[in-house]
Amino acid sequence: MAGHRGLSLDAVDDGGAAAVASDIPSLDRLLKDPALAALAAEHGPSRVTSALRARLAALRDEARAGTLRHGALAPAALAAGLGVALEHASRPRLRTVHNLTGTVLHTNLGRAVLPDAAVQAVVQALSAPMALEYDLERGARGDRDDLVEGLLCELTGAEAATVVNNNAAAVLLMLNSLANRREVIVSRGELVEIGGAFRIPDIMSRAGAKLVEVGTTNRTHPADYAGAIGPRTAMLMKVHCSNYAITGFTASVDTPALAEIARAHGLPVGVDLGSGSLVDPARWGLPHEPTVRETLAAGADLVTFSGDKLLGGPQAGLIVGRADLIRKIRRNPLKRALRVGKLTLAALEPVLALYRAPEHLPERLTTLRLLLRPQAAMQAQAQRLLAPLQAALGDDWRVAAAPMSSQIGSGAMPVEALPSWGLSLRYAGKGSRGRALERLAKALRALPRPVIGRIADDALWLDLRCLEEPDEPGFAAQLENLRT
Ligand SMILES: *Cc1c(COP(=O)(O)O)cnc(C)c1O
Repeated sequence: MAGHRGLSLDAVDDGGAAAVASDIPSLDRLLKDPALAALAAEHGPSRVTSALRARLAALRDEARAGTLRHGALAPAALAAGLGVALEHASRPRLRTVHNLTGTVLHTNLGRAVLPDAAVQAVVQALSAPMALEYDLERGARGDRDDLVEGLLCELTGAEAATVVNNNAAAVLLMLNSLANRREVIVSRGELVEIGGAFRIPDIMSRAGAKLVEVGTTNRTHPADYAGAIGPRTAMLMKVHCSNYAITGFTASVDTPALAEIARAHGLPVGVDLGSGSLVDPARWGLPHEPTVRETLAAGADLVTFSGDKLLGGPQAGLIVGRADLIRKIRRNPLKRALRVGKLTLAALEPVLALYRAPEHLPERLTTLRLLLRPQAAMQAQAQRLLAPLQAALGDDWRVAAAPMSSQIGSGAMPVEALPSWGLSLRYAGKGSRGRALERLAKALRALPRPVIGRIADDALWLDLRCLEEPDEPGFAAQLENLRT
């Protein structure tokens, strides 16, 4: 409760006469005061007692320093100060924000925003028991994978499917189940690092598998794989280059060719698809992304992908493919350690179900709706928000509606930018522009619902792609709290 020491009580303690330590009321007496009793009723007696104890210790320090004023000792003043501090400390650490970074699937901001159907399902799941691992038909124990396995198979053409905590866990589990103490062959062009310390070589060694690198960074040929296969080889693996692109003089072995080599040696092919998509986004004019179905049809025996990237669902790792291999994965004790919770499954099932009607996805799947927002809508929104933002910022700033480019994020389609609209904020006042931009970014983050933009090229950019219209009035209304 040391935080209360810095509390400002300027409003009440200025002008008061100097006070000494013996003027400080006792803890017990103060706790009986109605103002502090009210605080105890709200925040809990033990919490208020310890906050008050810390405050009294701070007042004794002030008395020793000769800076204590009588005004600071009034119970009402103490209660008001403690109330503000307790309120502040009670605010949840996990805050909702406005993601105006232009990155739709922003890992640091929670990636996919879930569609209504999933939100309703999670709310239900939070407050009532559910048949999570219970077969209602037979009245016996079931498997939580059963809840989504059928849907995943229907949507991807896989024989079987399982779900774990995230795609990193899916890759770890696949490798440990199929290649523990054995070798896995991967192209040097695919030894990727994904944000947040996911590196294929590290995951491989933690899974107990020995990485055998073949080819070079820019070129790998079928003969490279074939030449590396030996008695200890357990599988061939492909990793989708999700967050970078190798261009120029390049060659890689595609899934059909890799599957042919693997089959000739009786080995499985595992593909880490990263974002993975159940429907090719090219259908809506977005850049092509390989789908899980086409990867399986091309000969992959197992495919892993994320639940909260392009799929638009909760954090999860999905593994689909051959039934015998999925059975092996399910029997691995690590599966139990990496399993998903009921809230994840509650959210995942309705999201997958949306893919049964791909025609409706652009309205129903939030991630896709944001990726497809018409430029005209964002431009009109920028025009609407320009005046209130300019008014809130004052004459030191020039606010303009501007075209900009968004990204899908989370590694999906790394080199493609989506044309977008938003607001650019430039500093025209005195002093350092760089520092003014940092100050403004900080002030925006201090709003009741923090606004996260992006500083680049001497401006602060607010990309409006992820500010859908229902949220717009709230965004505009809180600008009056902006203090730069
Ligand atoms: C994102 C990604 C991962 C990690 O997935 P998480 O769901 O974040 O654990 C693994 N491999 C590839 C290729 C990825 O793009």
